[in-house]
Amino acid sequence: MEEEKNFMRFDILTIFPEPLREYLKSSLLGRAEANDLVEFHVHQVRDWASDKHRRVDDVLYGGGEGMVMKVEPLVAAIEEIREKYRKGRVIYMSPQGRPLTQELVQELGQYDEILLICGRYEGVDERVLNGWVDEEISLGDFVLCGGEIPALAVTEAITRRIPGVVGKEGSLVEETFSQGLVEYPHFTRPREFRGMEVPEVLLNGNHAEIERWRRQEALRRTFFKRPDLLEKLELKEEDRKFLASLERPR
Ligand code: SAH
Repeated sequence: MEEEKNFMRFDILTIFPEPLREYLKSSLLGRAEANDLVEFHVHQVRDWASDKHRRVDDVLYGGGEGMVMKVEPLVAAIEEIREKYRKGRVIYMSPQGRPLTQELVQELGQYDEILLICGRYEGVDERVLNGWVDEEISLGDFVLCGGEIPALAVTEAITRRIPGVVGKEGSLVEETFSQGLVEYPHFTRPREFRGMEVPEVLLNGNHAEIERWRRQEALRRTFFKRPDLLEKLELKEEDRKFLASLERPR
């Protein structure tokens, strides 16, 4: 069982705080903060720059194109934030990091405080990573201009799992990845749209039958969309039979 925890603090270091603050105020995340389930603190890295131009980037030692985020402002920021919250996890968003998965999201949900560093330009001075970062996390095998979108993705994925944030806890238990499968299909009104009908089984109110259909559809979709997930799963005899029936040409 996962530990019941009702409060979490996120600190995000970026040179573009405004769009992040706006996003974090919206919808479910904004409501979670208003309900004291979570706190978001977005910091401008330039506030820790010591020169009068508030410079946070510089040219590369060794030459080459591009700029790098300087070590001093970042370390000053991390140290000041960590001063008050010692238990947290310091994460650098990076395409070189561990790919973000639901499993990793659950793992990170165990912390009370998470500090996310958003890189820009070519990234950050390597010494920041060596001395002040616990972990690097990637949004996937592609390169963005900055760590802001990955940091929001991490924040949102963790926040929606905090008890009380998503309305019905059930929707977290059943959703994609939570049981090692992708989720079954959903339908809402109208019953018929341009000749496309809602599956009959969903209309008859027989819950055992609906449950069985949903399990089978989740298996079917995983089989066709994400067969890699099935390899890791312990299947019931009934599931195995159903999957075998999919493998036969129909
Ligand atoms: N030169 C770097 C990429 C820099 S991209 C390299 O080749 O590894 C600029 C910043 O965007 C990075 O510092 C990182 O914080 C962020 N970023 C880019 N792609 C990302 C990804 N897939 N996941 C997480 N952060 C990413």
